[in-house]
Amino acid sequence: MQKIAFKHLKAGDEIGLVPTMGALHNGHISLIEKSAKNDDITIVSIFVNPVQFGHGEDYLKYPRPVKKDLEICKKNRVDYAFMPSVKDMFPQEHKAFVEVKALQDIMCGAFRPVHFRGVVTAVSKLFNISFADRAYFGMKDFQQLKIIEKMAKDLSFRTKIVPCPIVREKNGLALSSRNSYLSDEEKAVSLNISKSLKEAAKEFKSKSLSAVKNSAISKLKKIPNSKIDYAEIVSASDLSPAYRNTKKVVFAVAVWVGKTRLIDNIQMTK
Ligand code: AMP
Repeated sequence: MQKIAFKHLKAGDEIGLVPTMGALHNGHISLIEKSAKNDDITIVSIFVNPVQFGHGEDYLKYPRPVKKDLEICKKNRVDYAFMPSVKDMFPQEHKAFVEVKALQDIMCGAFRPVHFRGVVTAVSKLFNISFADRAYFGMKDFQQLKIIEKMAKDLSFRTKIVPCPIVREKNGLALSSRNSYLSDEEKAVSLNISKSLKEAAKEFKSKSLSAVKNSAISKLKKIPNSKIDYAEIVSASDLSPAYRNTKKVVFAVAVWVGKTRLIDNIQMTK
């Protein structure tokens, strides 16, 4: 892949990279479409990265519908579907890791301690392999987006990070490969996550941050069989806790519904 990408680089092609873990859905497709529009070449990487899963997490059961993913790539004019093996990406003697201090330890990082180190290490390898001019990341994983922006800036990667809006089902549920774990009943009650966030964004116009946060938490707590990992209102620029005067604000949550951990967020403006 690196040799092929280098040929494109030398030929003057602009290269777009869409890093994914596969089980592609319309959220991923929106990133692919953006790259197909902006770039001469679109590379989609499909790699379920073991290094970003903690002990006891869903690495083994993570969906891997390879044939369907490749059909989606073909249909959406992807030039290269890059599907490295675990051995290709992380041979046993792998010793180098990339970390983004502080940002990796809060929010999702507080509950998934090895997660972002694994994500950032894999993504920096993908940047080096693809020579990407642009890489596309969904705002669905808002903390991940911020961490990768910081990594690319601090380590002087040539790759420009392009944030892409959250794609949702008509009823509001944010699309996620993990939604396939949900039973119909769980799926129905999971709607209350996006609903609570939407209501929070409305309340934010007139109420205090703590009132907005508490009202959302009480709604999330009512979801049957749920557990809140966190519900935090943070600055959209650096994930620091938001204050009354913070300009751009994001309300981000991680909520378990049964055995499935769902994340979602919303940008809030006065
Ligand atoms: P994943 O395969 O879940 O690791 O996601 C790969 C990329 O797709 C990440 O940049 C995600 O943020 C993005 N993505 C996943 N779900 C959505 C969604 N519902 N809307 C927009 N982007 C998404």
